[in-house]
Amino acid sequence: MARIGFIGLGNMGGPMAANLVKAGHKVAAFDLSADRMGAAVAAGAAASADASAAVSGADLVITMLPSGREAETVYDGPGGLISAARTNTLLVDCSTIDVATARRLNAAAAGRGLILLDAPVSGGVAGAAAASLTFMVGGPAEGFAKAEPILKAMGKAVIHAGEAGAGQAAKICNNMILGVSMIAVCEAFVLAERLGLAAEKLFEISSKSSGQCWSLTSYCPVPGPVPGAPSNRGYQPGFTAAMMLKDLRLAQEAAIAGGTATPLGAEAAALYGLFVGAGDAQTDFSGIIRMIRGERG
Ligand code: NAD
Repeated sequence: MARIGFIGLGNMGGPMAANLVKAGHKVAAFDLSADRMGAAVAAGAAASADASAAVSGADLVITMLPSGREAETVYDGPGGLISAARTNTLLVDCSTIDVATARRLNAAAAGRGLILLDAPVSGGVAGAAAASLTFMVGGPAEGFAKAEPILKAMGKAVIHAGEAGAGQAAKICNNMILGVSMIAVCEAFVLAERLGLAAEKLFEISSKSSGQCWSLTSYCPVPGPVPGAPSNRGYQPGFTAAMMLKDLRLAQEAAIAGGTATPLGAEAAALYGLFVGAGDAQTDFSGIIRMIRGERG
């Protein structure tokens, strides 16, 4: 049993904190939202008055915040975790944030003798609820070894990606593959429709051919072939287009900062920008097939 501070109890953090309680850990929880706090307490966590109260006495602190801006405030703002934590407390940021901020915060923590791991996740809200997330972890091996058994209570795979920032790098590279491949699969289904090829037949053939990929076989953007996919429930998320756009823009920021050419990643970011701008921020990201078909946007 570990004493864990958990900050950021939203769509992801709420069920993740609940899974830590279920695994027998003692969780001190904090969120700016009273409703989110209430749900965490109902799940068995103790309420903390603020972030520094959640960190006091903790063996490990997990944060699950919207973006780099909030992570910057919570870790390095006035009274932030980096100044409030005891030096033997391990800090683990599971939020998806930009690589540059992750590296800066990890270095600021190291300056106080603390280890801060970047450990973003894949698997979405369903994975958070089912404790089947994948964690991609950046930071020293010693910190990874300590965090791994605790992260396993919330996920099915916990992978050490490398040094500080490597977890965030893995997350944005993975999601750039996902965004680009989803658009490619959508374009193929729309072209098939126009050519008179049945969607079921394209699925049957491509799922056994070289076009096979996760966007096709696990998350098919046309209803029918994959019963659990959001396409069968009017593109309710799942993984929202706004989240996909956030991750594609983080990938573009990193690519531009390092001078890496990622033209398909840039095009995917532009297309998801149009889709979100047309009012589909909360639509599942596979719903972009409607825009590609000319139905939206
Ligand atoms: P969310 O907006 O539902 O939750 C974020 C929570 O952080 C909110 O409850 C908010 O009140 C709280 N918060 C913000 N600032 C705070 C502060 N200063 N102190 C304390 N609490 C604060 O977001 P989410 O969907 O849970 O996503 C969290 C992170 O996980 C994001 O970085 C996101 O990119 C990543 N992620 C989300 C998904 C998904 O499907 N939702 C999947 C993978 C990764």
